[in-house]
Amino acid sequence: MKFVSYECNGLEQYGIVDDQTGDILNLSQIAIIKEIDDFPLTLLEGIKQGDHFITTIQKVMDSLEQDYSSFLLKKDSLKWLSPISHPPKNVICVGKNYREHAIEMGSEADIPEHVMIFTKATTAITGHLSNIDLHSEVTSELDYEGELAVVIGKGGKNISESDALKHVFGYTILNDITARDLQKRHKQFFIGKSLDTSCPIGPWIIHHSQIKNPNNLDITTKVNNEVRQNSNTKHFIFPIEEVISTLSKGMTLEPGDIIATGTPAGVGKGFKPPIFLKRNDQIDITIEGIGTLTNKVQ
Ligand code: MG
Repeated sequence: MKFVSYECNGLEQYGIVDDQTGDILNLSQIAIIKEIDDFPLTLLEGIKQGDHFITTIQKVMDSLEQDYSSFLLKKDSLKWLSPISHPPKNVICVGKNYREHAIEMGSEADIPEHVMIFTKATTAITGHLSNIDLHSEVTSELDYEGELAVVIGKGGKNISESDALKHVFGYTILNDITARDLQKRHKQFFIGKSLDTSCPIGPWIIHHSQIKNPNNLDITTKVNNEVRQNSNTKHFIFPIEEVISTLSKGMTLEPGDIIATGTPAGVGKGFKPPIFLKRNDQIDITIEGIGTLTNKVQ
């Protein structure tokens, strides 16, 4: 299942992608019409319900039988939101998790020995097809970072590496937009990583059952249709299990927490001279088995 959140009649609603048409089955509307008890109002609420949520959706689907076309929303008519607009914590990000990227940002000496973590403010989150603000009044070095993101399903603390993937609800795509000049000036990454609209997420969360091995997925970023990043998550320095386990040592992970797993080589700053984003640039990040997240700079 691919879970999406969108705005409909001014309200946040959610649904799943219909595999036949690519349109969206409006679960929020079905829940109201079919009077299903304790049906969650948002996707985050659903994720908090754990396996019960998936069972409920299955029941809903069965009750529709063949005639579900009246509950389909045309994908082109939606305002896409991030599948989760307000995660419980800041968006958690792994820095320098691909060797070649660590080198392009500095040198071999920048390859980390331990998982490196920073966060992005939740107010930076935006959805598929939304515009990324160039913020030319505060930065002249806006850059992209295509990344696989993990969404926590079952919370926990002191999670072992062998149990880590059992805590994942699903996977999505995240663009870790970064103001390089602010990132450098303020030492800590927070400001440079948190400008409004600098965290596009989507278009959907794909359920973990549909991704066999998240540590082996092709990832490509294009800017104006030109390939800038082209790698595979098998090149992670710290695989997802290690990232989750490390984060959870003494710190509670909660359902809906989002973890961006780091970006491969090929960011704008890595070019000589650097190529930063400009108005009207379109960024497409594609991850094997998930889909493509598209945003334009305005
Ligand atoms: Mg990043």
